Amino acid sequence: ASLQRIAQVDPKVRAFLRVDEAGALKAAEASDARRKAGGPLSALDGVPVGLKDIFLTEGVETTCGSRILEGFVPPYDATVVRLLKEAGLPLLGKLNMDEFAMGSSNESSAYFPTHNPWDLTRTPGGSSGGSAAAVAAREVFGALGTDTGGSIRQPAALTNTVGLKPTYGRVSRYGVIAFASSLDQPGPMARTVGDTAALFQLIARHDPLDSTSADVETPDCLTGLEDGVRGLKLGVPREYFAEGMDPEVAGTLRASLEELEKLGATLVDVSLPHTKYALATYYLLASSEASSNLARYDGIRYGQRAKDARGLKELYTQTRGQGFGAEVKRRIMLGTYALSAGYYDAYYLRAQKVRTLIREDFTKVFQQVDAIVSPTSPVPAFKLGAKVDDPLSMYLMDVYTLPCNLAGLPGLSVPCGFTQAGLPIGMQLLGRPFDEARLLRIARAFE
Ligand code: GLN
Repeated sequence: ASLQRIAQVDPKVRAFLRVDEAGALKAAEASDARRKAGGPLSALDGVPVGLKDIFLTEGVETTCGSRILEGFVPPYDATVVRLLKEAGLPLLGKLNMDEFAMGSSNESSAYFPTHNPWDLTRTPGGSSGGSAAAVAAREVFGALGTDTGGSIRQPAALTNTVGLKPTYGRVSRYGVIAFASSLDQPGPMARTVGDTAALFQLIARHDPLDSTSADVETPDCLTGLEDGVRGLKLGVPREYFAEGMDPEVAGTLRASLEELEKLGATLVDVSLPHTKYALATYYLLASSEASSNLARYDGIRYGQRAKDARGLKELYTQTRGQGFGAEVKRRIMLGTYALSAGYYDAYYLRAQKVRTLIREDFTKVFQQVDAIVSPTSPVPAFKLGAKVDDPLSMYLMDVYTLPCNLAGLPGLSVPCGFTQAGLPIGMQLLGRPFDEARLLRIARAFE
């Protein structure tokens, strides 16, 4: 049914970079055989899902949305891919994304932009826009994305789906192509909170192959999922309801807060005073880490190599000049600058210190409240093409999502309404480290 649905709608939505029909059917048949034999079956055995093209898949081309990795076929699976395979989920293929996960609209994909199933002239968000669109268009039951500054939550908000960015270290990054290693975190996206929780349950495992993987037990997010919000204290940060927010998003969020109160939660006015520095801090740190991580694409070890280069230096410059798109080059230049001698102290080191202040803001607020509620994105899905020539306005899409990554906290986006024109709006929940179960429970009560 998923393959039929893809054939039917994906020519318009364009969520998939490539469909692995043979691999998916083989896994589905194996799952059927297990069912007929009376098991054993995992909770999601036989349930088809998709993968953002940032996850390494053995024998299946993986490009990370970039020309520089065109034709690259990984020799091994990312840990999360292995976990899904072991649980018997057919993997339908690789989903479109902004190149190296840099972007908020899917338009920096080197291949083509994905369209928002709710309005095909608009963006599904990014960078996990292909994952969000495939879920929203019912091509897959769920998908995996990654979130460095909002790339799971923002596309979830723009497509009326649920997206969970787990606590940093909760889900293994082994075999996930690195953008900014201290911020990157894989997570699940699905149509309902229950589906998201079930998928999260399968991938939240300690992994010795990732040195930053946290040695904590897999949480039980399903048992208390229906327990509601009665008695919980929810912080409403002043700084997240500031100017720049679309009036319809603001109105819908206010109504959602009232709804949470009716369900028995107590709202608490809180302040995260360093929020105004988060955007600058994030773009400095993320670009610095990216400039270092992307140094490996030199035309020697992976993917594409420039054809007519004479000498090693020319091979590097031509390969990288041809292989990377404009946004990736912008980040590499910004990051290289921030890390260079003479500027390091003023930019990179300073940003690291501000990052600590941002984290401390959250630690203080979480002494008073159980979770934080805010909008996910300041605006609903915008028109494809509307922001491509204005990187700064694109970066502003992440104001509410990226402080969570800087602090390493879990964050979730759950649908909370529509604009008059029928565009989805998302509500964001932020929690204490490793408190994903509570975020899912709040979202479920609200859903
Ligand atoms: N839009 C942000 C960026 O471009 C976030 C990306 C992400 O979370 N991968 O960096």
